[in-house]
Amino acid sequence: MDIILLGPPGAGKGTQAARLQQNRGMIQLSTGDMLREAVAKGTPVGVKAKAVMEAGELVSDAIVSALIGERLDSASDGAIFDGFPRTQHQAEALEMLLADRDRNLAHVIELVVDEEALVDRITGRFSCAQCGANYHDRFHRPKVDGTCDVCGSHEFKRRPDDNEATVRTRMAEYRAKTAPILPFYEEKGLVRRIDGMASVDDVAAAIDSILDS
Ligand code: AMP
Repeated sequence: MDIILLGPPGAGKGTQAARLQQNRGMIQLSTGDMLREAVAKGTPVGVKAKAVMEAGELVSDAIVSALIGERLDSASDGAIFDGFPRTQHQAEALEMLLADRDRNLAHVIELVVDEEALVDRITGRFSCAQCGANYHDRFHRPKVDGTCDVCGSHEFKRRPDDNEATVRTRMAEYRAKTAPILPFYEEKGLVRRIDGMASVDDVAAAIDSILDS
């Protein structure tokens, strides 16, 4: 089963995609993660994407569609598209990539959220530099300050694009380019809306009930 998780930055797409991957054997395909990996490795794609990402703008449709094309076959038991598609062009590219493989989307799950609350969610988040465990300055601090609960590391990192100015640009990009693709999926009868402001467990339960329906 292939699904899209759609929602503005900080809506919880990554958190929910990681849970689905763990619990259902589906594969999380996050273009944001793929791009961050490319930036860290200094690949040609990473070099092109770095400044665009730091500004909170969108990387080109050709680059992100190619990244998805490269990974799609590794998710043959079901993909969770997380942060892709983000434009109408990308939605159309995804249609073709799936059709070429006799696959089609089962659901487009929209996480409906309050944007102002998201700015707080995003600007406070940080993660363990060693194991990637996620934390938040206010909502989820490590049990012992400065020590990762999971692996004991003392090193933490923040995404360079998680500052308020960049978050506002990312939200504006979402409103201008990503939200307008919803009608494309609505016409196909694929959109399911859930309350993304609920707790992580409640959002996960709502997604499970859609996938099991
Ligand atoms: P994310 O981790 O999904 O919040 O993505 C982080 C950044 O990577 C975004 O602000 C964009 O600059 C870039 N990015 C990720 N996915 C896409 C996409 N599908 N299309 C264009 N840019 C993307």
